Amino acid sequence: MTIAYGNLSADRPLERLDIKRRQPGPHDVRIDIAFCGVCHSDLHQARGEWAGTVYPCVPGHEIVGRVSAVGTHVSGFRPGDLVGVGCIVDSCRHCYECDDGLENYCDHMIGTYNFPTPDEPGHTLGGYSQEIVVHERYVLRIRHAEDQLAVVAPLLCAGITTYSPLRRWNAGPGKKVGIVGIDGLGHMGIKIARAMGAHVVAFTTSEAKRSEAKALGADEVFVSRNPEEMAAHARSLDLIVNTVAAPHDLDAFLILLKRDGTMTLVGAPASPHPAPQVFNLIMKRRSLAGSMIGGIPETQEMLDFCAEHGIVADIEMIPVDQINEAYERMLKGDVKYRFVIDAHRWHDGTISLLVMRVRGESAYGPDKRACPCGQAGSTLGNSESGGAAKREHPCGRPHRAGLLS
Ligand code: NAP
Ligand code: ZN
Ligand code: ZN
Repeated sequence: MTIAYGNLSADRPLERLDIKRRQPGPHDVRIDIAFCGVCHSDLHQARGEWAGTVYPCVPGHEIVGRVSAVGTHVSGFRPGDLVGVGCIVDSCRHCYECDDGLENYCDHMIGTYNFPTPDEPGHTLGGYSQEIVVHERYVLRIRHAEDQLAVVAPLLCAGITTYSPLRRWNAGPGKKVGIVGIDGLGHMGIKIARAMGAHVVAFTTSEAKRSEAKALGADEVFVSRNPEEMAAHARSLDLIVNTVAAPHDLDAFLILLKRDGTMTLVGAPASPHPAPQVFNLIMKRRSLAGSMIGGIPETQEMLDFCAEHGIVADIEMIPVDQINEAYERMLKGDVKYRFVIDAHRWHDGTISLLVMRVRGESAYGPDKRACPCGQAGSTLGNSESGGAAKREHPCGRPHRAGLLS
């Protein structure tokens, strides 16, 4: 059994559940989850705000960890590798979209949670859990430093969801790019657009975020609740990526686009936006578009781009049993800027060796992992359980717990 956190119906809080993962098949990778980001989509789906949530619902699609086992035919990953899993765990693998590496638009895409699967209980269960088993095609390689794993997790959804439209609509030098909504997705959008070389304009409803958005890399910050401030910038932007999670007036942003400019919606509110004025589109040949996460090759490209440019998320780490409170705080915009679940906290007295490595600790858990020295591991290193003494391994060498798998 694998420990997970999920809910049994839309009106119930998330709670601890025991779930079953399949044994790795020939092409499967089993991942010991270290951290999982908390996306607003998790909240939408756990609470049944989008049609079709099936229960139990175990959310989580910003997963990072270490490979613990691979199937016999897996060639691209080995036990011990640092990897990520985003929003996709399967697709048909032969349609036009899959052939183009756009599995996110495959009609048979299987999301990381809440999609049909032959595995128990008949739908996929996500990353608020100890481990996950995923076909190798949908596993991403992480090239950031190991001690950045927690701040890399949000790239797996918030990163790719903003990277993909920024690439698609050519954000770069000479382009003025707006990012609307400065939290989980939006703060990543600012960092990525800036690294692409664009002039970045952040739009927020919060006066307090004026200086914060600049610190994240925005060249300019507009408070969207201030009509005069917005009007002063009419027809000035090439592209807007709108991450807002609630219905709002799209015209206020469309009029800021230049001729031929595009606003791409990535925010997915539970109910529709008021319809925009057609004249705001036709008068300047503007486009209103949408974009959903990204395909697997583009997600790998985004991870590599972020590693190269030193881009990570700004996070607040939480133990999983604070997830319900975190959802309430996310609704109020009370997080800077992404919650990340610290997955080792559910390992029931056995602190994850990977997490200890990330924290610069060294000890051995009472589990099956062996020291690279080859000698059997000693017990017991649990800095979380209040007082259990840490003991070093009998080989006496400095231990790189992250190497143990
Ligand atoms: P989040 O962290 O809650 O951020 C959303 C931000 O939108 C808020 O913090 C706020 O920013 C702004 N906002 C909220 N209510 C608003 C309102 N009434 N008017 C104007 N602005 C408002 O959420 P997230 O995780 O970034 O996700 C954002 C949305 O994207 C969600 O709907 C999520 O489901 C969706 N999503 C879509 C994809 C995709 O593939 N398309 C992928 C992931 C997530 P300010 O305080 O700065 O105004
Ligand atoms: Zn997401
Ligand atoms: Zn397909």
